[in-house]
Amino acid sequence: MLIDVHCHTNLYLELDKVLEEAKKVNIEKIISVGMSNLGLERTIEIAHKYKMIYPALGIHPEETLMNKNIENQLDNILEFIFQNSNKICAIGEIGLDHHFIKDKNIYPLQEKIFLDMLDLAQKLNLPVNLHTKGAEQEIFEILPSFTIPNVNIHWYSGPDKYLKFGIERGYYFSITPAISYSPVIKKVVELVDLNHLLLESDGPVNYSGKVGSPSMIRNVLAAISSIKNISKKELEEKIYQNTKIIFPKLF
Ligand SMILES: [Zn+2]
Repeated sequence: MLIDVHCHTNLYLELDKVLEEAKKVNIEKIISVGMSNLGLERTIEIAHKYKMIYPALGIHPEETLMNKNIENQLDNILEFIFQNSNKICAIGEIGLDHHFIKDKNIYPLQEKIFLDMLDLAQKLNLPVNLHTKGAEQEIFEILPSFTIPNVNIHWYSGPDKYLKFGIERGYYFSITPAISYSPVIKKVVELVDLNHLLLESDGPVNYSGKVGSPSMIRNVLAAISSIKNISKKELEEKIYQNTKIIFPKLF
C-alpha cells in the first residue's frame, strides 16, 4: 500500500476518476494539502466525502501574490484551522518562496504568514508540510525556533548544503514524479536515507505535459527502488512505516 503525502485534491475537475485510478495501483491514502483561503473549506469537505483523503491545512507562500486580501483574511484562516484541528493530520502547505516570487516587497508578509502557521503547528503539536523554493536558507534558520513534532520538506530542489542540514536534523523528504527527469531530485534520493523518504504526487501539477495524479507515485517508488538498490516490496514497506511515524493521525 502506498500513501501520497502531498496532493491538491480540490484542484481536480474529475476527482472520482483520479481516485479510481489511484486505487487500481493500491494507493491507500492521500493527504490533501489546502493552500489558499478559498481551498481550505473545500479540502475539509472533500476529506469528509472520501474516506481515503486526509486533510492538511495551510497557506501557500504564493497566496501572497495571488490573493490581495490575504493579510486581512489571515486571522480568520488561523481560527478556521484551529477549529478544524481535530480533522487535520498536518499544517501545510506552508513555507516561503523566493524563486517564483521575485518581488521582495512581498517577503515580509510571506514570513509573517509562515511564522503564524509554525506557531499554530507548535500549539497543535502537528507536523508541517513545507514549500521551500529559493528560500531554503531562511526556512532552515527559522525552524529551530519552533518545537514541531516532524518536518516534511516537499519537492526539495535547493542547494546540497541545506539538504545536508535537513538530513542531519531528521527532516522527511517527499519525492515527486519529477524524479523521472530531474537530476536534482535523483540527488535528493541518493543523499536522504531510507528512513526519511516519502512519496507525493503534488497533483494536479504538470510533469512534462502530463497532469500529476496520486497513481503516479507507483512509478516514483520504482525509480527510488532502482537508485537505492532495494526491492520495490521492501521499499514500499519502509516508506509506509516512515509515513506512519511522521503522520500518525492518518492511522
Ligand atoms: Zn503543492
